[in-house]
Amino acid sequence: MEPLTLHTPLTSLPGVGPAREKALDKLGLRTVADLLAYFPRDYEDRTLRESIAACPLEEPVCFSALVAEPFRTSYVRRGMELTKGRIVDGTGQVEVTFFNQSYVRSALTPGETYCFYGKLTGTGRRRQMINPVFEREGEGRVTGGIVPVYPLTAGITAKRLTSWQRLAAQCVPQIQETLPEDLRRTYRLAPAAFSYRAIHFPQSWEDLAQARRRLMFEELFCLNLGLTLIRGRRGEQTAVPFLRQDLDAFLSGLPFTLTDAQLRSAREAAADLKQPVPMNRLLQGDVGSGKTVVAAACAYLAWDNGCQTALMAPTELLAQQHVKTLSDLLGHTGMRVSLLTGSMTAAQKRACREKLAAGEIDLIVGTHALLSEPVAFRRLALVITDEQHRFGVDQRAALSAKSGGEERPHVLVMSATPIPRTLALMIYGDLDLSVIDQLPPGRTPVDTMLIGGDKRQRLYGFVRKQVGLGRQVYLVCPAVDQEDPAGMKAAEQYGRQLQREVFPDLRVAIVHGKLKAREKQQVMEDFAAGRIDVLVSTTVIEVGVDVPNASLMIVEDADRFGLSQLHQLRGRVGRGKHQSYCVLISDNRNEQTRKRLKTLCATTDGFAIAEEDLKLRGPGDFFGARQHGLPQLKLASLEGDMRLLHEAQDAARAVLAQDPDLQNHAPLRQRVEQLFRENGDIFN
Ligand code: ADP
Ligand code: MG
Repeated sequence: MEPLTLHTPLTSLPGVGPAREKALDKLGLRTVADLLAYFPRDYEDRTLRESIAACPLEEPVCFSALVAEPFRTSYVRRGMELTKGRIVDGTGQVEVTFFNQSYVRSALTPGETYCFYGKLTGTGRRRQMINPVFEREGEGRVTGGIVPVYPLTAGITAKRLTSWQRLAAQCVPQIQETLPEDLRRTYRLAPAAFSYRAIHFPQSWEDLAQARRRLMFEELFCLNLGLTLIRGRRGEQTAVPFLRQDLDAFLSGLPFTLTDAQLRSAREAAADLKQPVPMNRLLQGDVGSGKTVVAAACAYLAWDNGCQTALMAPTELLAQQHVKTLSDLLGHTGMRVSLLTGSMTAAQKRACREKLAAGEIDLIVGTHALLSEPVAFRRLALVITDEQHRFGVDQRAALSAKSGGEERPHVLVMSATPIPRTLALMIYGDLDLSVIDQLPPGRTPVDTMLIGGDKRQRLYGFVRKQVGLGRQVYLVCPAVDQEDPAGMKAAEQYGRQLQREVFPDLRVAIVHGKLKAREKQQVMEDFAAGRIDVLVSTTVIEVGVDVPNASLMIVEDADRFGLSQLHQLRGRVGRGKHQSYCVLISDNRNEQTRKRLKTLCATTDGFAIAEEDLKLRGPGDFFGARQHGLPQLKLASLEGDMRLLHEAQDAARAVLAQDPDLQNHAPLRQRVEQLFRENGDIFN
């Protein structure tokens, strides 16, 4: 066999034929380098214990012992053989049983010592063990150390993958060190070669911790460098500066006074818009915090500076709502606001496009179709998107390209997903951040309670009472149209059952993602117009829908949802002047789960809830999701070391201050390029 290098294809490894090649490819593994970058998801502690007596019961342990007698096989019934024997050390003895593995009879020689790995059970001084892993003492292949556990796929066994990793390990010295030595010293980071070896085959838990820390740091560091470089590249682009900055005429015509947080956010955006470089700002605010009016302020500035604005919503329904709201907010200024969506007739669309090209529309509202349709603007200078979590970095890039010409539009993205600030800076690293951390005055917080399924009858009574008062009710189920084996409520069945058996006299409707877009929209329109009393749905109603008359949100199997998601759902009520309620139903007795749900009952502050989610579940959910359009992280997504994150940020800043293009850090530059490969060329 040729000597292995990092570039050697895995097909050169023993046992890799076309089938396994395909399976490996599914894991993203093509070369030895890929393999080395494929980290274990867990480890088994197979370090040797002192003695049998020192081994705890009921957990996997590794120890060495002498085979005290020949192993014997007995046939229990057809197809079932038991092979039994006794092993001992100076402190105790264990009766070992193997099922259907009679070959062990010859593999375990009486009078010789072996290492065993398995779970000990028993009472008193009797110890038993079933199907342990074993090998001759000192062999050290499957026992006596910390053994990696890799994520697998069909066709690839743990044993094979580990043996390939052992082969690949000889190439570790070829891995380039990306982190400069002074940086490693400052942040006490282990060298690359050590870390790659130790993450696969650690000599000790201490070594493993060192290796993980270094590799996690590297990942966060490179992510930061990449995002900062993207941000920097923006500085070279030009945009129309909005030199006229006076908002008085807009503000004085509003039906309400802005909150301090809204004013602050509007000012932050205005300051960006004054610059001849494109704004790229994320406006974060809890549901109902009043983001729309801040967006309107920006659109007003665009208009006052002779430019057009495009606002994009994730659904047609939301686009329609935005047109209505924005027309109300901007009507007094003389701005012309209009809608452009896929479901309009061809003639309507054409008319709309002509007006846009002629500059007779100042603010156009639509769905993402705005991007794909052949729309020409007279002078588009600001693009606003609602519900950012559905947009990735690439979509933002596509948007910017839309304006054509030399000048890029300013971009404002609005998100109602409260993400703790530290994480937001990381996830939306190429965006500047404004936060509306205050609700408009006069809101009555939604009264939230957690109940068991046994209280459902009383709840039905409460539903009746709300509907009797003229209110409307949302009921959210975790599944669409079939109770799954675990018995989750399904919107389709439950909705029909409610109509038939519980509320025959009320208007019950069902909506979920499997309906056609048109049907879905029809139901939502009917609900918004008050033609439906009880809307049974899945989480499709999570985003942005505004029906102020709805006063009760019921969530079935609430434990199936993340806290932040439940908070989003709750945000659908409490939008009008009526006292509103959120009822979480769960029969889950798990203490941790109940604690999670109770958090929601105790607070309505989205950021506090996100922090709690972060504490309970780690940043995986925030980081892991591909929807952010960020590179996938391998290690950093698994655990939440905020300090490391800050250190990586500081380090990135320091390196870029000295070497803005990473010209003098070739290996590092290569790593960053690799990490962002899918996001296009970030150095140019
Ligand atoms: P979201 O941030 O969820 O998009 P909206 O912009 O839809 O919030 O605002 C929610 C509701 O609050 C709207 O009905 C809006 O008119 C109202 N609102 C916004 N700002 C204020 C304010 N400063 N004072 C009173 N009501 C406000
Ligand atoms: Mg909104």
